[in-house]
Amino acid sequence: MSCMRIFHSDDHRGHAGAMEMRYDRLIPMCESPDRIDTILAALRDQGHVDLALASSFGLEPVLRVHTPAFVDFLQRCWPLWEAEFGPGGFATAYMFGMRGMDQVPNGSVHSMLSCYTFDVCVPFVAGTWTAIRSAVDVTLSAASHVAGGGRSAFALCRPPGHHASSDLAGGYCYVNNAAVAAQMLLDRGASRIAILDVDYHHGNGTQRIFYDRNDVLYASIHATPEREYPFLLGYAHETGAGKGQGFNFNQPLPLGTAIDSYRPALAAALERVRAHAPDVLIVSLGVDSYIRDPVGGFALESDDFLTLGGDIATLPMPTLFVMEGGYAIEELGRNTANVITGFAQRRE
Ligand SMILES: [Zn+2]
Repeated sequence: MSCMRIFHSDDHRGHAGAMEMRYDRLIPMCESPDRIDTILAALRDQGHVDLALASSFGLEPVLRVHTPAFVDFLQRCWPLWEAEFGPGGFATAYMFGMRGMDQVPNGSVHSMLSCYTFDVCVPFVAGTWTAIRSAVDVTLSAASHVAGGGRSAFALCRPPGHHASSDLAGGYCYVNNAAVAAQMLLDRGASRIAILDVDYHHGNGTQRIFYDRNDVLYASIHATPEREYPFLLGYAHETGAGKGQGFNFNQPLPLGTAIDSYRPALAAALERVRAHAPDVLIVSLGVDSYIRDPVGGFALESDDFLTLGGDIATLPMPTLFVMEGGYAIEELGRNTANVITGFAQRRE
C-alpha cells in the first residue's frame, strides 16, 4: 500500500465545550476534539504512519478567499464577547441580518455575529481562533506537500470549512480550508483545480466562493436541500454563473441513499473532474454519509468508504483530502481511515 502523508496539529483542542441547537434540543457540540483523536488512532491502526505536524502559513492565503472584515471578526469575536459577558460560555448570534436590514456591523460583537454568521452552529470559545488557524495551516501544509510533488496528502483538520463563504461562517465552519488551499495552489502556478465534495451536506460556502469562476470546478454529492441542511442551496440547477457556467455540479440525493445509488453519482462527479483535467484534485472529505451518523441521513456502511476511496483513486492527478464532517464518534475513525486505505490500495 502506498503511503499517504497525513498532516495534523494539536492546536484545534481549545475549540471545545460549547453547546449547539439540534432542532428541538440544546446538545453538546457534535464537532468535537475527539473526532481528530479517533481518526488518528484508526489511521495508525490501518498502517498509515507517515504523520507530519503542520507549518505556519500566516493569514495572507486566507485573505485571498475571505474578506478582511470577516477575518477580523473571526479573530476578535471571542475577546469582544468575553469583555461583555466574562469567561466561560460561548458566543453565538442572537439574530441574523436578513432582508430589509443593514448588513453592515457596528462596533458591537452582536452586530458582527448577525452579519458574519448564518446559523447557530458556529459557537466561539476562547480557543476557537487558534483552532481556525490550525485548520488552515494543516490544510496548506498538505497542499504544499502536493504542490511539491507529493502524489497525495490528507489534511486532518478541524473545524471543517465547506459551509463557510468569503464573509459568512456557519455549519461548524469558519474558514473554508479547501477553498483557501485551492486558491493557494492556483497562486503557486496551477491552472485548474477541482473540488470534489463527498460530505453528506452540500458545501454551500465552497459553491458560493467559486460560483462565477472556471478555474475551480466544484462537484458535490449531498442530501437534497429539500430535506436537509443547508436547505437553501445545493440544487442540481445551480450550475455556475458568468464564465463559471458549467463549473458547478450538484448531485442532490434522497435521504436513505445507500452505496448502490451513491456510486453512480460518484462516477458522474469523477467524470466531470476528469474532463476538467485539474492539476490537483481536492476532496472535501466528510463521512457523515455513514448510516449511523447523528447528523446524517444517508445509508453508507463502513466498508463502503473503502469503495469510495478506491473509486476516487481511479483519477490520475495528485489528490489532497481535506477533512470536513463526520460525527458518529464510534465509527468515525474507521470510516475516515477506510477512505484513505481504499484510495492508497487502488493507487498502488
Ligand atoms: Zn456534513
